[in-house]
Amino acid sequence: MLGTELCSVCGDKASGFHYNVLSCEGCKGFFRRSVMKGAQYVCRGAGHCHMDMYMRRKCQLCRLRKCHQAGMREQCVLSEEQLRKKKVRRQQQKGALGEAPLPRVPPLPPTPLAEPARLSPQQELMIQQLVAAQQQCNKRSFSDQPKVTPWPLGTDPNSREARQQRFAHFTELAIISVQEIVDFAKQVPGFLQLTREDQIALLKACTIEDAEPYQTHISGGTRLGLRIGGGGPV
Ligand SMILES: [Zn+2]
Ligand SMILES: [Zn+2]
Repeated sequence: MLGTELCSVCGDKASGFHYNVLSCEGCKGFFRRSVMKGAQYVCRGAGHCHMDMYMRRKCQLCRLRKCHQAGMREQCVLSEEQLRKKKVRRQQQKGALGEAPLPRVPPLPPTPLAEPARLSPQQELMIQQLVAAQQQCNKRSFSDQPKVTPWPLGTDPNSREARQQRFAHFTELAIISVQEIVDFAKQVPGFLQLTREDQIALLKACTIEDAEPYQTHISGGTRLGLRIGGGGPV
């Protein structure tokens, strides 16, 4: 979070992603309350109020419409609520069974406004950025995979040709994997601000880490086996 992001609904300062949308605390709470109450609002205009920090107080219908347009999802509120209820129920059951619950079960919040402990907006944003970066890099390396020299099948595994083909297979996978790690690292917040030496040290370390689980799979002896980001041995 840079601190300069704006709410997609009203333009106020955003505090993070809420219900799938970069938004401010006000619109987050508004959307949550509206969904929980199943609120029916009325617009005094024609239902097309331009939403900003002033209008958000004036027209709830248009504010809710803007929340939906911006991509806020009711399911997110409901599933969050279900989780909260489930947690409370579990704690109550524990208490009923005589297990001294430690810490004590907090009293039920009087309004649906109170929320269970959750990640800070900065943490949520960081996670979303990292997941998006990983998906993007994964997609690229998956699209590169068909270009890799295939594993030799049907030929004598000890033949010179088969050995060369295996070597090419691993080398090309290694290149894709290293490229993926570098692409990903560049998108990790703060990575590009490090000195070049530190960047290289980190990349080396994680490349080796990434390669290790796969090396144990290879009995053929090549040291170039690499796992493609989370995809397991290929
Ligand atoms: Zn807002
Ligand atoms: Zn309106």
